Amino acid sequence: MDYNIALIKGDGIGPEIITQAVNVLEITGKKYGHKFNFKCSLLGGCAIDETGVPLPQETIDECLKSDSVLLGAVGGPKWESLPGNLRPEAGLLGLRSAMKLYANIRPAFLFEPLKAVCPLRQGIAEKGIDMIIVRELTGGIYFGKRGRRVTKNGTEAFDTEVYNETEIKRTAKIAFETAMTRRKKLVSIDKANVLESSRLWRESVHSMSLEYPEVELKDMLVDNAAMQLVRDPSQFDVVLASNIFGDILSDEAAMITGSIGMLASASLGNGKRGLYEPIHGSAPDIAGQNKSNPTAAILSAAMMLEYSFGLRRESTAIREAVNKVLRAGIRTFDIKGRDTEQIVGTVQMGELICREINGI
Ligand code: NAD
Repeated sequence: MDYNIALIKGDGIGPEIITQAVNVLEITGKKYGHKFNFKCSLLGGCAIDETGVPLPQETIDECLKSDSVLLGAVGGPKWESLPGNLRPEAGLLGLRSAMKLYANIRPAFLFEPLKAVCPLRQGIAEKGIDMIIVRELTGGIYFGKRGRRVTKNGTEAFDTEVYNETEIKRTAKIAFETAMTRRKKLVSIDKANVLESSRLWRESVHSMSLEYPEVELKDMLVDNAAMQLVRDPSQFDVVLASNIFGDILSDEAAMITGSIGMLASASLGNGKRGLYEPIHGSAPDIAGQNKSNPTAAILSAAMMLEYSFGLRRESTAIREAVNKVLRAGIRTFDIKGRDTEQIVGTVQMGELICREINGI
Protein backbone atom coordinates (compact mmCIF):
# COMPACT_ATOMS: atom_id res chain seq x y z
CA MET A 1 0.00 0.00 0.00
CA ASP A 2 1.03 3.66 -0.55
CA TYR A 3 1.39 6.09 2.37
CA ASN A 4 2.05 9.83 2.05
CA ILE A 5 4.28 11.17 4.79
CA ALA A 6 4.89 14.87 5.41
CA LEU A 7 8.52 15.21 6.45
CA ILE A 8 9.68 18.11 8.62
CA LYS A 9 13.42 17.95 9.20
CA GLY A 10 13.60 21.20 11.17
CA ASP A 11 16.78 22.63 12.70
CA GLY A 12 20.04 21.51 14.34
CA ILE A 13 20.32 17.71 14.32
CA GLY A 14 16.79 17.44 12.82
CA PRO A 15 17.92 16.87 9.20
CA GLU A 16 20.57 14.24 10.11
CA ILE A 17 18.29 12.11 12.31
CA ILE A 18 15.33 12.34 9.91
CA THR A 19 17.57 11.19 7.03
CA GLN A 20 18.26 7.99 8.99
CA ALA A 21 14.57 7.53 9.88
CA VAL A 22 13.66 7.85 6.18
CA ASN A 23 16.28 5.23 5.25
CA VAL A 24 14.77 2.88 7.84
CA LEU A 25 11.24 3.46 6.52
CA GLU A 26 12.37 2.82 2.94
CA ILE A 27 14.07 -0.45 3.84
CA THR A 28 11.04 -1.52 5.89
CA GLY A 29 8.68 -0.62 3.04
CA LYS A 30 10.78 -2.59 0.54
CA LYS A 31 10.86 -5.63 2.80
CA TYR A 32 7.14 -5.70 3.60
CA GLY A 33 5.70 -4.38 0.31
CA HIS A 34 4.69 -0.80 1.19
CA LYS A 35 5.55 2.44 -0.56
CA PHE A 36 6.22 5.50 1.53
CA ASN A 37 6.09 8.81 -0.38
CA PHE A 38 7.83 11.70 1.35
CA LYS A 39 7.23 15.42 0.91
CA CYS A 40 9.44 17.89 2.82
CA SER A 41 8.04 20.99 4.52
CA LEU A 42 9.58 23.83 6.50
CA LEU A 43 8.99 24.48 10.20
CA GLY A 44 10.88 26.36 12.89
CA GLY A 45 14.13 28.26 12.40
CA CYS A 46 14.70 27.13 8.81
CA ALA A 47 11.17 28.31 7.94
CA ILE A 48 11.87 31.70 9.56
CA ASP A 49 15.06 32.05 7.51
CA GLU A 50 13.32 31.16 4.27
CA THR A 51 9.82 32.62 4.67
CA GLY A 52 9.91 34.98 7.69
CA VAL A 53 7.48 32.88 9.77
CA PRO A 54 8.00 29.66 11.80
CA LEU A 55 4.92 27.92 10.37
CA PRO A 56 4.20 28.71 6.71
CA GLN A 57 0.66 28.01 5.47
CA GLU A 58 2.08 25.56 2.88
CA THR A 59 3.41 23.42 5.75
CA ILE A 60 -0.04 23.28 7.39
CA ASP A 61 -1.65 22.40 4.03
CA GLU A 62 0.93 19.70 3.32
CA CYS A 63 0.53 18.13 6.78
CA LEU A 64 -3.28 18.13 6.55
CA LYS A 65 -3.07 16.46 3.11
CA SER A 66 -0.68 13.76 4.33
CA ASP A 67 -1.43 10.41 5.96
CA SER A 68 0.95 11.32 8.78
CA VAL A 69 3.77 13.67 9.78
CA LEU A 70 7.34 12.87 10.88
CA LEU A 71 9.27 15.69 12.53
CA GLY A 72 12.94 16.06 13.60
CA ALA A 73 13.28 19.01 16.00
CA VAL A 74 13.10 22.80 15.84
CA GLY A 75 14.87 25.72 17.47
CA GLY A 76 18.36 26.96 18.22
CA PRO A 77 20.31 29.96 19.55
CA LYS A 78 20.06 31.81 16.22
CA TRP A 79 16.32 32.44 16.74
CA GLU A 80 16.18 32.78 20.53
CA SER A 81 15.98 36.59 20.61
CA LEU A 82 12.90 36.75 18.35
CA PRO A 83 9.53 37.70 19.91
CA GLY A 84 7.59 34.68 21.30
CA ASN A 85 5.08 34.37 18.44
CA LEU A 86 7.87 34.33 15.83
CA ARG A 87 10.07 31.76 17.55
CA PRO A 88 10.51 28.23 16.18
CA GLU A 89 8.60 26.65 19.12
CA ALA A 90 5.54 28.78 18.25
CA GLY A 91 5.56 27.00 14.87
CA LEU A 92 5.41 23.61 16.57
CA LEU A 93 2.53 24.63 18.87
CA GLY A 94 0.73 26.13 15.86
CA LEU A 95 1.11 22.91 13.88
CA ARG A 96 -0.22 20.77 16.76
CA SER A 97 -3.21 23.09 16.99
CA ALA A 98 -3.81 23.15 13.19
CA MET A 99 -3.76 19.34 13.19
CA LYS A 100 -6.16 19.29 16.19
CA LEU A 101 -3.90 16.97 18.19
CA TYR A 102 -4.92 16.62 21.83
CA ALA A 103 -3.13 13.57 23.23
CA ASN A 104 0.58 12.97 23.55
CA ILE A 105 1.83 9.40 23.66
CA ARG A 106 5.26 8.74 25.08
CA PRO A 107 6.62 5.23 25.48
CA ALA A 108 9.24 4.81 28.20
CA PHE A 109 11.01 1.59 27.34
CA LEU A 110 14.31 0.33 28.69
CA PHE A 111 16.05 -1.75 26.03
CA GLU A 112 17.60 -4.77 27.74
CA PRO A 113 21.17 -3.98 26.59
CA LEU A 114 20.87 -0.44 28.03
CA LYS A 115 20.22 -1.53 31.62
CA ALA A 116 23.75 -0.41 32.47
CA VAL A 117 22.89 3.24 31.71
CA CYS A 118 19.63 3.18 33.72
CA PRO A 119 20.18 5.51 36.71
CA LEU A 120 18.06 3.28 39.00
CA ARG A 121 19.50 0.51 41.20
CA GLN A 122 20.40 -2.59 39.18
CA GLY A 123 17.71 -4.71 40.91
CA ILE A 124 15.01 -2.26 39.81
CA ALA A 125 16.27 -1.99 36.22
CA GLU A 126 16.41 -5.80 36.05
CA LYS A 127 12.62 -5.98 36.34
CA GLY A 128 12.33 -3.95 33.12
CA ILE A 129 10.58 -0.71 32.17
CA ASP A 130 7.92 -0.80 29.45
CA MET A 131 5.19 1.81 29.80
CA ILE A 132 3.30 4.33 27.72
CA ILE A 133 2.34 7.70 29.13
CA VAL A 134 -0.77 9.27 27.56
CA ARG A 135 -0.85 12.99 28.36
CA GLU A 136 -3.67 15.43 27.67
CA LEU A 137 -2.08 18.12 25.51
CA THR A 138 -4.40 21.06 24.90
CA GLY A 139 -6.21 21.76 28.19
CA GLY A 140 -5.58 22.24 31.89
CA ILE A 141 -3.49 24.86 33.63
CA TYR A 142 -1.23 25.56 30.63
CA PHE A 143 -4.26 26.93 28.75
CA GLY A 144 -6.48 28.19 31.62
CA LYS A 145 -7.04 31.80 32.59
CA ARG A 146 -3.96 33.43 34.09
CA GLY A 147 -2.91 36.85 35.21
CA ARG A 148 -1.67 39.17 37.90
CA ARG A 149 -3.46 41.64 40.15
CA VAL A 150 -2.40 44.05 42.84
CA THR A 151 -3.67 43.26 46.33
CA LYS A 152 -2.96 44.71 49.77
CA ASN A 153 -0.30 41.99 50.10
CA GLY A 154 1.47 43.04 46.93
CA THR A 155 1.20 41.55 43.45
CA GLU A 156 -0.71 38.28 43.18
CA ALA A 157 -0.43 35.85 40.26
CA PHE A 158 -2.81 33.06 39.29
CA ASP A 159 -3.11 30.20 36.79
CA THR A 160 -6.27 28.14 36.42
CA GLU A 161 -6.62 24.39 35.96
CA VAL A 162 -9.81 23.88 33.90
CA TYR A 163 -11.01 20.62 32.37
CA ASN A 164 -14.31 19.57 30.85
CA GLU A 165 -15.61 16.01 30.45
CA THR A 166 -15.12 16.01 26.66
CA GLU A 167 -11.42 16.86 26.97
CA ILE A 168 -10.86 14.24 29.64
CA LYS A 169 -12.86 11.46 27.99
CA ARG A 170 -11.35 11.78 24.51
CA THR A 171 -7.83 11.48 25.97
CA ALA A 172 -8.92 8.67 28.30
CA LYS A 173 -10.31 6.82 25.28
CA ILE A 174 -6.88 6.88 23.61
CA ALA A 175 -5.35 5.56 26.85
CA PHE A 176 -7.90 2.72 27.15
CA GLU A 177 -7.44 1.83 23.45
CA THR A 178 -3.68 1.76 23.97
CA ALA A 179 -4.07 -0.46 27.05
CA MET A 180 -6.21 -2.88 25.01
CA THR A 181 -3.26 -3.48 22.66
CA ARG A 182 -0.91 -4.13 25.60
CA ARG A 183 -1.14 -5.64 29.10
CA LYS A 184 -4.61 -4.11 29.73
CA LYS A 185 -3.56 -2.13 32.80
CA LEU A 186 -4.24 1.59 33.11
CA VAL A 187 -3.19 3.91 35.92
CA SER A 188 -4.94 7.29 35.91
CA ILE A 189 -3.06 10.08 37.66
CA ASP A 190 -4.77 12.88 39.60
CA LYS A 191 -4.74 14.89 42.81
CA ALA A 192 -8.36 14.16 43.68
CA ASN A 193 -7.72 14.51 47.42
CA VAL A 194 -7.25 18.26 46.86
CA LEU A 195 -8.32 19.47 43.41
CA GLU A 196 -11.90 19.68 42.10
CA SER A 197 -10.62 19.41 38.50
CA SER A 198 -8.98 16.12 39.52
CA ARG A 199 -12.26 14.84 40.98
CA LEU A 200 -13.97 15.46 37.62
CA TRP A 201 -10.96 13.82 35.94
CA ARG A 202 -11.42 10.70 38.10
CA GLU A 203 -15.21 10.54 37.54
CA SER A 204 -14.84 10.96 33.76
CA VAL A 205 -12.13 8.30 33.49
CA HIS A 206 -14.26 5.85 35.51
CA SER A 207 -17.29 6.51 33.34
CA MET A 208 -15.14 5.84 30.23
CA SER A 209 -13.87 2.61 31.83
CA LEU A 210 -17.38 1.11 31.56
CA GLU A 211 -16.69 0.79 27.82
CA TYR A 212 -13.47 -1.13 28.52
CA PRO A 213 -14.35 -3.80 31.12
CA GLU A 214 -11.22 -5.82 30.23
CA VAL A 215 -8.88 -2.99 31.26
CA GLU A 216 -7.90 -2.95 34.93
CA LEU A 217 -8.13 0.71 36.01
CA LYS A 218 -6.33 2.12 39.04
CA ASP A 219 -6.27 5.72 40.31
CA MET A 220 -3.01 7.07 41.68
CA LEU A 221 -2.26 10.43 43.28
CA VAL A 222 0.42 12.29 41.38
CA ASP A 223 2.81 12.52 44.34
CA ASN A 224 2.61 8.76 44.87
CA ALA A 225 3.09 8.21 41.09
CA ALA A 226 6.33 10.24 41.17
CA MET A 227 7.61 7.91 43.92
CA GLN A 228 6.36 4.68 42.34
CA LEU A 229 8.08 5.55 39.05
CA VAL A 230 11.49 5.30 40.70
CA ARG A 231 10.57 2.62 43.27
CA ASP A 232 9.12 0.07 40.85
CA PRO A 233 8.51 1.32 37.29
CA SER A 234 7.80 -2.26 36.14
CA GLN A 235 4.29 -1.99 37.71
CA PHE A 236 3.16 0.48 34.99
CA ASP A 237 1.68 -0.45 31.62
CA VAL A 238 -0.33 2.59 30.42
CA VAL A 239 -0.40 5.82 32.43
CA LEU A 240 -2.99 8.54 31.79
CA ALA A 241 -2.40 12.07 33.02
CA SER A 242 -3.47 15.67 32.62
CA ASN A 243 -1.30 18.17 30.78
CA ILE A 244 0.79 19.37 33.73
CA PHE A 245 1.05 16.02 35.56
CA GLY A 246 1.89 14.23 32.30
CA ASP A 247 4.53 16.82 31.47
CA ILE A 248 6.37 16.22 34.72
CA LEU A 249 5.93 12.44 34.98
CA SER A 250 6.88 11.78 31.34
CA ASP A 251 10.22 13.55 31.85
CA GLU A 252 10.81 11.51 35.00
CA ALA A 253 10.01 8.33 33.05
CA ALA A 254 12.32 9.46 30.23
CA MET A 255 15.20 9.93 32.65
CA ILE A 256 15.00 6.39 34.05
CA THR A 257 15.26 4.80 30.60
CA GLY A 258 18.67 6.28 29.78
CA SER A 259 19.27 8.89 27.07
CA ILE A 260 16.72 11.21 25.48
CA GLY A 261 18.35 10.14 22.21
CA MET A 262 16.33 6.91 22.50
CA LEU A 263 12.83 8.28 23.18
CA ALA A 264 10.04 8.69 20.64
CA SER A 265 6.64 10.35 20.88
CA ALA A 266 3.37 10.77 19.04
CA SER A 267 0.70 13.43 19.19
CA LEU A 268 -2.73 12.20 18.19
CA GLY A 269 -6.22 13.60 17.64
CA ASN A 270 -9.47 12.11 16.40
CA GLY A 271 -8.32 10.53 13.14
CA LYS A 272 -5.39 8.29 12.25
CA ARG A 273 -3.08 11.13 11.24
CA GLY A 274 -0.51 11.98 13.91
CA LEU A 275 2.64 14.00 14.48
CA TYR A 276 5.61 11.78 15.36
CA GLU A 277 8.81 13.22 16.79
CA PRO A 278 11.68 12.42 19.14
CA ILE A 279 11.25 13.97 22.60
CA HIS A 280 14.64 15.70 22.41
CA GLY A 281 15.32 19.11 20.92
CA SER A 282 17.56 20.23 18.07
CA ALA A 283 20.79 19.71 20.08
CA PRO A 284 22.70 22.61 18.47
CA ASP A 285 25.82 21.65 20.49
CA ILE A 286 26.34 18.51 18.38
CA ALA A 287 24.55 19.45 15.12
CA GLY A 288 26.41 18.62 11.90
CA GLN A 289 29.05 16.50 13.68
CA ASN A 290 27.63 13.03 12.96
CA LYS A 291 27.32 12.54 16.73
CA SER A 292 23.56 12.54 17.32
CA ASN A 293 21.67 9.38 18.16
CA PRO A 294 19.10 8.82 15.37
CA THR A 295 17.26 6.09 17.35
CA ALA A 296 14.56 8.36 18.84
CA ALA A 297 13.66 9.55 15.33
CA ILE A 298 13.75 5.96 14.02
CA LEU A 299 11.50 4.77 16.87
CA SER A 300 9.16 7.71 16.17
CA ALA A 301 8.86 6.43 12.60
CA ALA A 302 8.12 2.95 14.03
CA MET A 303 5.33 4.46 16.18
CA MET A 304 3.87 6.08 13.08
CA LEU A 305 3.70 2.70 11.34
CA GLU A 306 1.82 1.22 14.30
CA TYR A 307 -0.51 4.05 15.37
CA SER A 308 -1.29 5.77 12.06
CA PHE A 309 -0.97 2.93 9.53
CA GLY A 310 -1.76 -0.12 11.69
CA LEU A 311 1.51 -1.81 10.59
CA ARG A 312 2.38 -3.53 13.89
CA ARG A 313 4.59 -6.25 12.42
CA GLU A 314 6.71 -3.65 10.60
CA SER A 315 6.92 -1.46 13.70
CA THR A 316 8.03 -4.42 15.81
CA ALA A 317 10.67 -5.31 13.19
CA ILE A 318 12.21 -1.84 13.56
CA ARG A 319 12.26 -2.07 17.36
CA GLU A 320 13.80 -5.54 17.19
CA ALA A 321 16.47 -4.26 14.81
CA VAL A 322 17.35 -1.48 17.28
CA ASN A 323 17.55 -4.04 20.08
CA LYS A 324 19.86 -6.30 18.02
CA VAL A 325 22.23 -3.44 17.22
CA LEU A 326 22.38 -2.51 20.91
CA ARG A 327 22.90 -6.15 21.89
CA ALA A 328 25.89 -6.27 19.56
CA GLY A 329 27.48 -3.57 21.75
CA ILE A 330 27.01 -0.73 19.25
CA ARG A 331 26.37 2.67 20.85
CA THR A 332 26.21 6.34 19.96
CA PHE A 333 28.18 8.42 22.44
CA ASP A 334 25.11 9.47 24.48
CA ILE A 335 24.31 5.88 25.52
CA LYS A 336 27.81 4.69 26.18
CA GLY A 337 27.98 2.50 29.30
CA ARG A 338 30.95 0.13 29.17
CA ASP A 339 34.44 0.31 27.64
CA THR A 340 33.78 -2.80 25.56
CA GLU A 341 31.15 -1.02 23.49
CA GLN A 342 31.80 0.31 19.99
CA ILE A 343 30.92 3.98 19.51
CA VAL A 344 29.52 4.92 16.11
CA GLY A 345 28.15 8.09 14.51
CA THR A 346 24.64 9.01 13.36
CA VAL A 347 25.02 7.62 9.85
CA GLN A 348 26.57 4.30 10.91
CA MET A 349 23.91 3.75 13.59
CA GLY A 350 21.20 4.25 10.96
CA GLU A 351 22.95 1.94 8.50
CA LEU A 352 23.35 -0.83 11.09
CA ILE A 353 19.66 -0.66 12.03
CA CYS A 354 18.74 -0.86 8.31
CA ARG A 355 20.99 -3.88 7.89
CA GLU A 356 19.30 -5.64 10.81
CA ILE A 357 15.83 -4.95 9.37
CA ASN A 358 16.92 -6.62 6.15
CA GLY A 359 18.21 -9.59 8.13
CA ILE A 360 15.08 -10.17 10.27
P1 NAD B 1 18.06 19.22 23.52
O1 NAD B 1 17.14 18.08 23.72
O2 NAD B 1 18.20 19.73 22.15
O3 NAD B 1 19.52 18.85 24.09
C1 NAD B 1 19.77 18.53 25.45
C2 NAD B 1 21.08 17.69 25.53
O4 NAD B 1 20.83 16.39 25.01
C3 NAD B 1 22.22 18.27 24.70
O5 NAD B 1 23.43 18.04 25.36
C4 NAD B 1 22.18 17.46 23.41
O6 NAD B 1 23.43 17.35 22.77
C5 NAD B 1 21.68 16.10 23.90
N1 NAD B 1 20.89 15.42 22.86
C6 NAD B 1 19.65 15.75 22.44
N2 NAD B 1 19.26 14.92 21.47
C7 NAD B 1 20.26 14.04 21.28
C8 NAD B 1 20.46 12.93 20.39
N3 NAD B 1 19.53 12.56 19.48
N4 NAD B 1 21.63 12.27 20.45
C9 NAD B 1 22.58 12.61 21.36
N5 NAD B 1 22.45 13.64 22.22
C10 NAD B 1 21.30 14.35 22.18
O7 NAD B 1 17.54 20.39 24.49
P2 NAD B 1 18.06 21.90 24.63
O8 NAD B 1 19.55 21.95 24.47
O9 NAD B 1 17.45 22.40 25.86
O10 NAD B 1 17.37 22.67 23.42
C11 NAD B 1 18.03 22.95 22.17
C12 NAD B 1 17.00 23.60 21.23
O11 NAD B 1 15.97 22.66 20.94
C13 NAD B 1 16.30 24.82 21.84
O12 NAD B 1 16.16 25.79 20.84
C14 NAD B 1 14.95 24.28 22.28
O13 NAD B 1 13.96 25.27 22.29
C15 NAD B 1 14.68 23.24 21.19
N6 NAD B 1 13.75 22.17 21.58
C16 NAD B 1 12.95 21.71 20.59
C17 NAD B 1 12.09 20.66 20.85
C18 NAD B 1 11.24 20.13 19.72
O14 NAD B 1 11.51 20.43 18.57
N7 NAD B 1 10.23 19.35 20.00
C19 NAD B 1 12.06 20.05 22.11
C20 NAD B 1 12.94 20.53 23.11
C21 NAD B 1 13.79 21.59 22.81
